Amino acid sequence: MGLQEIRQRIAAAERAAGRPEGSVELIAVSKVQPDARVETVLEQGHRVFGENYVQEAQGKWPGWRQRYGGVRLHMIGPLQSNKAKAAAGLFDAIHTLDRMSLARKLANALAAHDGNTPELFVQVNTGDEPQKAGILPDELPGFLDQIHELGLTPQGLMCIPPEAEEARPHFVMLRELAEAAGLDRLSMGMSADFEAAIAEGATHIRVGSAIFGARDYSDRG
Ligand SMILES: *Cc1c(COP(=O)(O)O)cnc(C)c1O
Repeated sequence: MGLQEIRQRIAAAERAAGRPEGSVELIAVSKVQPDARVETVLEQGHRVFGENYVQEAQGKWPGWRQRYGGVRLHMIGPLQSNKAKAAAGLFDAIHTLDRMSLARKLANALAAHDGNTPELFVQVNTGDEPQKAGILPDELPGFLDQIHELGLTPQGLMCIPPEAEEARPHFVMLRELAEAAGLDRLSMGMSADFEAAIAEGATHIRVGSAIFGARDYSDRG
């Protein structure tokens, strides 16, 4: 597929939803992809990328940041508390604030570091899946109060709908939760469902394989 086609599909989905062109931020999810594929997309001028693993991002992005100006990196994977400090220094946005222990570590790391504060999204477990990270919808207001007390100001919500279900009702739920909380950024929609997410108000979509091709995990053990 590739970047140009995805950009066209985003523009079409924005028009169909009556939203201004450019209102949706495309996060190109480069986790696990071979360097050459990422460099192709950098050469095409794209600058906003998503990664799932702190260590992987630390290894590959400092060099690209030097070669290509204006890179913005989004952390979209589960974040271990002991990596909060490293993540706060590396990423421009963190989409996976999903528990108090992480919020405390992030608050400490941000108080100590002198760079920009990353944009924060609270991950919501919209499908109430026991194995999945995220704050349960019922517990979101209390969680937001608690992290405010730590001095953290999230800008939006993020979700990963259950694999076996239609995604759209989950996007609706996330939008309604955000509206109720007075948050205006929504990180939702991936390769298979980003058009539905845009129709429901996504401001940030996370698209990997539709841009770069399938991920190959076979050499990661
Ligand atoms: C890997 C990943 C994506 C990208 O998935 P694709 O299906 O390749 O678009 C998006 N969001 C999260 C949280 C991911 O882990």
